[in-house]
Amino acid sequence: MALVIQDLHKSFDGHVALDRINLSIGNAEFVCLLGPSGCGKTTLLRIIAGLLGSDGGKISLDGRDLVNVPARDRGFGIVFQSYSLFPHMTIAQNIGYGLKIRRTPDDEIAERVNSLLDVVRLNGFGERYPNQLSGGQQQRVAIARALAVNPSLLLLDEPLSALDARVRAGLRQELREVQQRLGIPTLMVTHDQEEAMSMADKIVCMHGGRIVQEGSPRELYIAPRTRFVAEFMGHSNLLSKTVVQAWMPELLPDAHAGDAELFIRPERITMQKAAGAEGQVISTSFLGSIQRVQVLWKAQPLLVETSTTVDWTPGDRVHLSIAAQDCAWVQA
Ligand code: ATP
Repeated sequence: MALVIQDLHKSFDGHVALDRINLSIGNAEFVCLLGPSGCGKTTLLRIIAGLLGSDGGKISLDGRDLVNVPARDRGFGIVFQSYSLFPHMTIAQNIGYGLKIRRTPDDEIAERVNSLLDVVRLNGFGERYPNQLSGGQQQRVAIARALAVNPSLLLLDEPLSALDARVRAGLRQELREVQQRLGIPTLMVTHDQEEAMSMADKIVCMHGGRIVQEGSPRELYIAPRTRFVAEFMGHSNLLSKTVVQAWMPELLPDAHAGDAELFIRPERITMQKAAGAEGQVISTSFLGSIQRVQVLWKAQPLLVETSTTVDWTPGDRVHLSIAAQDCAWVQA
């Protein structure tokens, strides 16, 4: 493992912001810290960067203890949400800044800057100033600047959230490609589940200063352990034990399942029009590639996602099929 964090904790004025965090990032692994506002993501990233002290715990990179190493000596590349480029410097000077303060010879800097302009697809922009670039281009410069020093770890704090949806989607892919090509262990903070799923090897889901579950995007989406993770990772239906007992007793868990709810993703429910059936379409929204349909089924509101081949209309009577293998019990 490249980065290993053990038992890290941090409080602000008695309020626990991070509660015994254990986390590791493998060589070349892209890890996303995902969670709602205030769950501690930025605090964790800032402690790893060395910009904030912790109250205890260990952080090491390739076996080297980092706790007492100042930020500037950690050799990490950091990209923030606000591009924070130096406005009075050209793009080339911005990208080469870290090398300049390390007293790298000018010709080496020029060579490295040129190759990085290439990496972030900004050839020919080197002599411009930041205010002559779009937001997406400025953020690519910030990424190139972070990569210039050959960082041993790349830390990204919501780097794409200030950009519009189209630019953001393009840059996600570019950033991921660059990270894979260079093989840099990377930690990105985001509250955007789709962003985390499309970029990460591993998602670490945080809630209230704790890691509540970690795993591949697929694992977290298909097999969340708690209601919180199920709901945070996408749309879901959660049915109480009482409802399951009444309508689908064959799906009831064994006696040890505790305070659990039955979870099923909307696209796993199959729906057919059937006169007199027990379900009724309440509302629909057409989203292009799919339709999202609210159904009242045995007095239980359910969300169903279907292809767009059938045009559902409120009032349609529908038969729903839910297969046992598509359901899971999650902690309420
Ligand atoms: P967001 O997505 O909104 O940035 P976050 O998950 O990054 O949220 P943090 O910024 O890490 O959350 O904050 C975690 C908790 O610690 C919050 O309750 C926050 O109010 C608190 N906190 C963060 N920084 C400080 C500080 N300097 N002083 C006091 N409390 C702080």
